Amino acid sequence: MFGREPKKSNNTKHYEVLGVQKNASPDELKKAYRKAAMKFKELAHAYEVLSDPKKREIYDRFGEDALREGMDGGDDGDNPSDILRERKGGGPRAKERRGKDVQHQLKVSLEDLYSGTSKKLSNSRNVICSKCTGKGSKSGASTKCSGCQGSGMKVSLRKMAHKLFQQMQHPCNECKGTGKTIRDEDLCSQCKGEKIVLEKKVLEVYVEKGMQIGDKITFSGEADQAPGAVTGDVVFTLAQKDHPKFKRKGDDLFVEHTLSLTEALCGFQFALTHLDGRRLLIKTNPGEVIKHDSFKAVNNEGMPMYQNQLMRGKLYIHFTVDFPTGEQCKVLEYMAYDHATS
Ligand SMILES: [Zn+2]
Ligand SMILES: [Zn+2]
Repeated sequence: MFGREPKKSNNTKHYEVLGVQKNASPDELKKAYRKAAMKFKELAHAYEVLSDPKKREIYDRFGEDALREGMDGGDDGDNPSDILRERKGGGPRAKERRGKDVQHQLKVSLEDLYSGTSKKLSNSRNVICSKCTGKGSKSGASTKCSGCQGSGMKVSLRKMAHKLFQQMQHPCNECKGTGKTIRDEDLCSQCKGEKIVLEKKVLEVYVEKGMQIGDKITFSGEADQAPGAVTGDVVFTLAQKDHPKFKRKGDDLFVEHTLSLTEALCGFQFALTHLDGRRLLIKTNPGEVIKHDSFKAVNNEGMPMYQNQLMRGKLYIHFTVDFPTGEQCKVLEYMAYDHATS
């Protein structure tokens, strides 16, 4: 029997932190952890809101719902990992609003992917007006929006149930949430106060040798511009047009070829026009017999490898032997039988 507990270092703190008994099951531990993590998430969110003067003001005036409704488009402030990232970065950063990326599909032929190509594509997008540098006015001045008293937000009531209303916050439609309007006589003559103008530009997309379907070619910052937002990208995703002759699997190419029975048995040669127009001579070795549904591989005549364009995959020729029918067939059957028994 022990008179008293042997001396040891603290072994209860972790249980206390999680708020569980010492005999807690793994399940209880998990539950407690989740609860604590939620608490942390709330804590981080509270800090995120209150440390941002703009958010704090909205919160103080209209409450949490208003904050949720009124946040910048696509705000992911509820994401705990995002909050964590901000904490690690040493205090909250001003959230940058990022414009949407523009996605396009670019159909290319197998020849394009074999030899590489470039394609010119016209791209129209909104750009910040150069005349007023995105201010929308000649003088650069703007006045407080009368619709929202400059807050950029309007509050409306949504009926939830009988006599129960919820306050809703949404961007002001008169000033598009900017809180500012421009007097008519001061509107920029180029953009008419819109702050953006349409621009057409040709983008040259370089498709490199050996690229694969689904590869993306990105033009950074070529999407729509908007005042106060980081411009998104234009992204082209490669899609392939079917080829009448060649099929691609990774770095290898496949081509179908039909042989007559005589060719299969006695040998053949034919010229295969490759994707770059070269003619390859494909022939049997002396005495070689080609079986139906068999492949012949030609080294180094497949697709160029994207990362190492001096290397190429294989070219596989898939042979179909065109068996004769009718009278001819009977003779052959007899010959085969004869051959098998001799
Ligand atoms: Zn307004
Ligand atoms: Zn302008």
